[in-house]
Amino acid sequence: MTPQIYLDNAATTRVHPKVVEAMLPFFTEGYGNPSSLYELGQQAKAAVTDARERIAAHINAKAQDIYFTSGGTESDNWALKSTADAYSDKGRHIITSAIEHHAISHSAEWLKRHGYEITYLGVDEKGLIDPAELEAAIRPDTTLVSIIFANNEIGTIEPIKELAAITHRHGAVFHTDAVQALTNIPIDVVDLDVDMLSASGHKFSGPKGIGFLYIRKGIKTKSFLDGGAQERKRRASTENVPGIIGMARALDIAIENYAERTKHECDLRDHLIRRVLAEVEHSRLNGDAVKRLPGNANFSFEFVEGESLLLSLEQKGILGSSGSACASGSLDPSHVLLAIGLPHEIAHGSLRLTLSEDTTLDEIDYTVEAIKEVVAHLRNMSPLFEDFVAGKKKISAVK
Ligand SMILES: *Cc1c(COP(=O)(O)O)cnc(C)c1O
Repeated sequence: MTPQIYLDNAATTRVHPKVVEAMLPFFTEGYGNPSSLYELGQQAKAAVTDARERIAAHINAKAQDIYFTSGGTESDNWALKSTADAYSDKGRHIITSAIEHHAISHSAEWLKRHGYEITYLGVDEKGLIDPAELEAAIRPDTTLVSIIFANNEIGTIEPIKELAAITHRHGAVFHTDAVQALTNIPIDVVDLDVDMLSASGHKFSGPKGIGFLYIRKGIKTKSFLDGGAQERKRRASTENVPGIIGMARALDIAIENYAERTKHECDLRDHLIRRVLAEVEHSRLNGDAVKRLPGNANFSFEFVEGESLLLSLEQKGILGSSGSACASGSLDPSHVLLAIGLPHEIAHGSLRLTLSEDTTLDEIDYTVEAIKEVVAHLRNMSPLFEDFVAGKKKISAVK
């Protein structure tokens, strides 16, 4: 039987069994609406309050600064669009980066269509933003800077504290998309001095369809959804009570086993990276080797097409992700891989493998053997590789 090796934890994670257990009562006996005044509603409200306090404590925030949303996408849309709107009297210049998740980059494009000017900070070959570039780009009419905390494709961790400090020296608001970072990097919103932070439950073994936006007290932003008075009148719609409970439980568990879990993932990740780079010719690691998410490995293989690689690996039971955006119906390679300077043909031959605390050494070794086999097979069928080998032979013959 083909094994199932799940190495796509940056796309989503399996919900932790203890999280499911914590959520279940809120579907069955505890189904009340937190806005209802009778006991059944008030019990749900108390559970939401407790979850909010625990989540806030994990990032050193105040409970009243946590706003529940439907996930990372909504948090990012809210942070960008409504905050830009709230400060539009002051200016209409927004700064973000070239390697944001589409929830940010497409929101920035929406703002551009609505009269805002957007500056996209570039990155170096490891995917790192240079704080000096932010310093140079920021202007008196810049109201908002939004930078991804850790990139979802190549895993690079950005200097958020430094970027927030520069932003504040110039009187603008700082937001970070911490969807990949939360539970993988210690986050203290006071120490980092960030004004807004997005997170999503399903990226850390919580349920899908629930996330939060941290908004520091005093930051102006409009409500993103109009309707009822939920979330201190800033985010209408009946609270996703089971989702909120599940996300809080998932965060408790992830923070509790932080040291062990991240060490396990870093060890396996480094083993995977070492083996692939040593054993597969013409391969490279994308992203920074050190300033990197614990579970993230992202490779490019010359003369190999990422989609074919993925399909062949799937036949061997390995589930990963490619750097190209073919899934979305487009054949364009990832904007992140292009931003770090990869040529189109190499960006197309990319593979992202993202580990979890459940990943084992055996699974990683099996995956390396599978990659070796599949890459060799695909190259054997590639006319480009044939030309390359022929060219090399010719060169050595001349010598
Ligand atoms: C997954 C992800 C999102 C979107 O979160 P959803 O909860 O799926 O909407 C946003 N930003 C980053 C960096 C992500 O990895």
